[in-house]
Amino acid sequence: MKPNQANPPRDAQRAAREAALNRIRSAALPTPDVLADQLMTGNRVALGQAITLIESQNAADRPVADALLNRALEGKRQAIRIGVTGVPGVGKSTFIEKWGLRLIEAGHQVAVLAVDPSSGRSQGSILGDKTRMTELSMNPAAFVRPSPAADALGGVARATREVMALCEAAGFDRILVETVGVGQSETAVRNLTDIFLLLLLPGAGDELQGIKRGIMEMADLVWVNKADGEAAGRAAEAANQIHSALHLLPPPTSGETVEVFTGSGLTGLGLDALDAALQSLADRMIASGHFERQRTDQELASLDHHVRSGLWQSVLSRPETAAEWRRLQTQVLHKQISPYSAARNFIEAVASHL
Ligand code: GDP
Repeated sequence: MKPNQANPPRDAQRAAREAALNRIRSAALPTPDVLADQLMTGNRVALGQAITLIESQNAADRPVADALLNRALEGKRQAIRIGVTGVPGVGKSTFIEKWGLRLIEAGHQVAVLAVDPSSGRSQGSILGDKTRMTELSMNPAAFVRPSPAADALGGVARATREVMALCEAAGFDRILVETVGVGQSETAVRNLTDIFLLLLLPGAGDELQGIKRGIMEMADLVWVNKADGEAAGRAAEAANQIHSALHLLPPPTSGETVEVFTGSGLTGLGLDALDAALQSLADRMIASGHFERQRTDQELASLDHHVRSGLWQSVLSRPETAAEWRRLQTQVLHKQISPYSAARNFIEAVASHL
């Protein structure tokens, strides 16, 4: 489904999730410990149930979800988490399907998750729903999950982080997180993954757009897609331009050089070279300590984010502090008080109600 079209699969998906949740709640669900044990032996039914609980927006499901997540963390298994981004139409799903099947042939277990900022809205999602990656979806060594439904990108990102942890516990060693090349979702996915792969089109000026939007600065690897047929020459030219442009940017935080590849998600041309480069990049990141450091930073940033947003929600849920907040907002609006003084007053008011 493309944007702005009616999107019945999204409603159907939501209904299916609710039905699954009801089944899980009403069935004598194994305890979180048993479910976690089953999940860690690679049981797909248990993984599906666990993910449904994690993605549930019903607060009553949260204690079970938390218990499961804490158990899953004990497994200490680690995948390489790879973010894949690019504008709609660049060929992400075609590429992921082909690459995912190759990774499976090479003995990997592949999970594909999506982060779609539009997924919470009823108009339909940008990434689309079910008709993508059909072959991969049916492969027993793959697990393909559409973007969780949430009202805000923060909610989608939280659920995706937790689903990744469960997939890792279930033994998946390659997790591909697909996102659309619009809005803030790229930054969110960059902060969820170990390696960020940017897909570009040959000769569409994307290389320059990418720099403008800061996306190029987030990339660890660049892949110029659709380098097949007549476009092969243009793709090579685009790769050269991108290569030069990258020299003008600060290097990624890993300190590694960003490599540019050309290839085709349709024919699979170039995928072996990309795969080898990705594995070698991951090995170097692990050896230098960057891999672990980045993960730790991401976990701490997530903790920070959840504490801030949780505290803020609890502050505003109290009538007296909420009233004070509105009063100060009005004063700032009418220029009766500076924002800084208002903030100090507010913090004092909150502290006095603790
Ligand atoms: P997405 O929106 O980024 O997920 O893009 P899709 O994978 O849906 O592909 C968009 C269109 O480009 C489809 O018509 C694909 O068949 C086509 N396409 C995708 N990858 C390639 C490729 O490597 N080469 C060519 N020639 N076409 C491709």
